[in-house]
Amino acid sequence: MTAIDLRPTGAPSVPTGEVGPTDEVYDSVAALVGNTPIVELNALTAGLGSRVLVKLEGRNPGGSSKDRIALNMIRTAEASGVLAPGGTIVEATSGNTGIGLALIGRLTGHPVVIVHSSDISAEKRTVLAAYGARLVEADWEADPSDPANPRAVADRIAAETPGSWRSSQFANTANPDAHYQGTGPEIWRQTAGRVTHFVASIGTGGTVSGAGRFLKDVSAGEVRVIGANPVGSTYGDGAAGRIIVDGVGSAWPRDYWPETFDRAILDAVRTVDDREVYNTVRRLAAEEALLLGPSSGLAIAVALQVARDAAPGSVVVAIAPDGGVNYLTKAYDPQWLADAGLGD
Ligand code: PMP
Repeated sequence: MTAIDLRPTGAPSVPTGEVGPTDEVYDSVAALVGNTPIVELNALTAGLGSRVLVKLEGRNPGGSSKDRIALNMIRTAEASGVLAPGGTIVEATSGNTGIGLALIGRLTGHPVVIVHSSDISAEKRTVLAAYGARLVEADWEADPSDPANPRAVADRIAAETPGSWRSSQFANTANPDAHYQGTGPEIWRQTAGRVTHFVASIGTGGTVSGAGRFLKDVSAGEVRVIGANPVGSTYGDGAAGRIIVDGVGSAWPRDYWPETFDRAILDAVRTVDDREVYNTVRRLAAEEALLLGPSSGLAIAVALQVARDAAPGSVVVAIAPDGGVNYLTKAYDPQWLADAGLGD
């Protein structure tokens, strides 16, 4: 494998000679992580006295906000020495973090093992394999004491693989730090400091607490930080149950939350029912030409509520963690929606 240096390079580099002085050339795919665009909603905010701006994390090279944490977790582990050159990265995830790790691992010369659930989509399996990750199946329903449990499988692989490293996205402070150093400052700069409210859906909590903390620090506490929560998740006040918004919510007991989630940063958590989430996803595509994932629909549904309640002239920024192409056979499939009881 070829390895590239992850130290910041001040990309994009200024091209010279035959490339032409007006072109921008990035020195590797890793330099494409972050600096995602923000777009204003126009149709869905008609009649509101406040603005809703959406940060399009699907524009990262692996297609989600998780590229940021993959890059920062690997960079930090390399710098501290816990991840040696050529060391294997092991993570239990069926989601975007696996794709981010597979992509950055490929670039940095680290083999990547992804422990996944049996119902991983064919698309995700293909993407992970294309980046050269090794895939190992585990039972997502299995109790932590069961050897088939995903974390047990990942721990076993790590124990059997010399020089391996568990990235542990739910416990690794390089996850929220990526958003403190990247996502938060970008929002502040892109809105010229006018952001008044920040909304992100909560999975590991890295995005909402990392970017939220930066925005609190830089605004002397003025920016309101709101977590978006799906029905069935114990991050909100409702009952624990089935969660059908990918990548977000918690099935842990109500008094437990991961180390990457700093609840003290949040001013509020709002829960939105699945019908409103998927209706927002549909309207974003139909009325704003924004094809986004369900957790984006969740955050934007909350952002619209916040914009409705806030003082006129407020500037509400919502995170869209990934794009809709990953969900063509789910959120955008009428049969899947009907089967989920969200047909009309
Ligand atoms: N949406 C999607 C699709 C995700 O994969 C994740 C991460 N699990 C999130 C939202 C939530 O982000 P965070 O882990 O930073 O809370």
